[in-house]
Amino acid sequence: MSTTSIEELFVHNREWAQQMERDRPGFFTGLMAQQKPRYMWIGCSDSRVPANQITGLEPGEVFVHRNVANVVVPSDLNCLSTIQYSVDQLKVEHLMVVGHYGCGGVLAALEDARVGLADNWIRHVKDVRDKHGVLLESLSPQWRHDALCELNAIEQVINVAQSTVMRDAWARGQKVTLHGWCYSLSNGLITDLQMTVPGVGGLAEVHAQAVALVASRQRD
Ligand SMILES: [Zn+2]
Repeated sequence: MSTTSIEELFVHNREWAQQMERDRPGFFTGLMAQQKPRYMWIGCSDSRVPANQITGLEPGEVFVHRNVANVVVPSDLNCLSTIQYSVDQLKVEHLMVVGHYGCGGVLAALEDARVGLADNWIRHVKDVRDKHGVLLESLSPQWRHDALCELNAIEQVINVAQSTVMRDAWARGQKVTLHGWCYSLSNGLITDLQMTVPGVGGLAEVHAQAVALVASRQRD
């Protein structure tokens, strides 16, 4: 467990800034001019899932939105605003929804655990659980949590795809591809859930194939 103090955070920050400037003179002033990320990441707030480090991306390379259990709710102005800005203004080319195995929010939804105010948020993951109840029940208990982490990421990709922002972007011919991924805390590797959506059309087929892969991946 880290014992880093607040003062040490500032020390680390100064060391990092100096190191960056030594290695890449003009790095910060270059970024001041503009940000031009190619990627947007929607992930869980979990401290063990940092978007940049996992993917080797530097400041300026990925636009990030995180919340408990990486949920995309059609009425969540916070999430929708970040998607809108990244797609309409920054012109990101890829948007990935990244779940992670061992997600506490997903487990709470799976087990109907009470965690407090967040229960209301996790309700959205319970909708995913209920939608795929038959599939989850068919799996042995040790795979259900992993499967729901994957299914949740897949369903959130659907929510992004059906948002007005994406529909408008694709209608005007903008190239943005959506992806559903799941990150492993135990080995640091990302699994591509094959929930890849390059535009309108074919969403139901891609979804059905991705869900079928969840079932085949969680074998005993
Ligand atoms: Zn999580």
